[in-house]
Amino acid sequence: MQPNHATQADSQADSQADSQADSQADSAVVAAWLTDATDVTVLTGAGISTESGIPDFRGPQGLWTRDPAAQRLSSLPDYVAEPQLRRRAWQSRQQHPAWSAEPNAGHQALVTLERSGRLRGLLTQNIDGLHQRAGSAPTTVIELHGTIWEVECLGCGDRQPMTTALARVDDGEDDPACLRCGGILKSATVSFGQPLDPDVIRAAERAARECDLFLAVGTSLTVFPAAALPRVAVGNGARLVIVNAEPTSYDGIANAVLREPIGGVLPRLVAGLR
Ligand code: NAD
Repeated sequence: MQPNHATQADSQADSQADSQADSQADSAVVAAWLTDATDVTVLTGAGISTESGIPDFRGPQGLWTRDPAAQRLSSLPDYVAEPQLRRRAWQSRQQHPAWSAEPNAGHQALVTLERSGRLRGLLTQNIDGLHQRAGSAPTTVIELHGTIWEVECLGCGDRQPMTTALARVDDGEDDPACLRCGGILKSATVSFGQPLDPDVIRAAERAARECDLFLAVGTSLTVFPAAALPRVAVGNGARLVIVNAEPTSYDGIANAVLREPIGGVLPRLVAGLR
């Protein structure tokens, strides 16, 4: 079910056209699988939001592809140890594209999937809140890596809206501290070196176990434990469909791999659902 890749003397243009044609043929088959499915679990990654203007990390235009040093902003030990890094993190949050981004056709397609009654769970590694903004039910969306719309104190766990913290940065505090205990504030996202919420990961594993079709969308499938979820689904008999521009290490066990822009292919996959 994967697109064929030309191996001989075909021109690059011909090979791209062939690959696109194969992908479209496959998308018709996947659409039929979706129609037949009763419990679909979707795992999304940064790739679903690039068409909303939020860059991913590891794609060709990804933040870390262009600036590998930016990875340190997502390291909890570095964030705690270095006030200078925290000041940079607050500046980066001030300019985050999530504040003005709008959901795109890919997010909307998953709302259509949910309204068809087939969506068992929408697991997202994204922190941008665009699934909920598109209309996905907050009870269906499981945010594996938290949300950028809130801040959390690393000392007492107090949570506040991000807008409140950013207003303090605007007013001149370059590293605002927790107003309750004086602790270090950070966006309520999961950094490297920070554990995932065990209830959240349990709910995600359950949704992966209990589906008959698992759709991985816009994720390089390199960040664990999220990247283990496709294998959980396949191990329990589900079909695996991957929609991603670049190869992933799970392509070999997938029933179909669609390498098209997400905002184009997802609406086609759900167009026939009622
Ligand atoms: P990733 O950056 O590792 O991979 C994204 C994948 O999406 C890439 O393989 C890329 O080729 C593909 N892609 C990008 N745009 C696409 C498009 N329009 N159509 C098809 N494919 C496309 O992302 P990840 O696997 O989610 O892991 C990165 C981590 O970064 C996650 O933990 C996530 O929390 C965080 N992150 C989130 C956001 C966000 O919330 N929007 C943005 C950047 C990073």
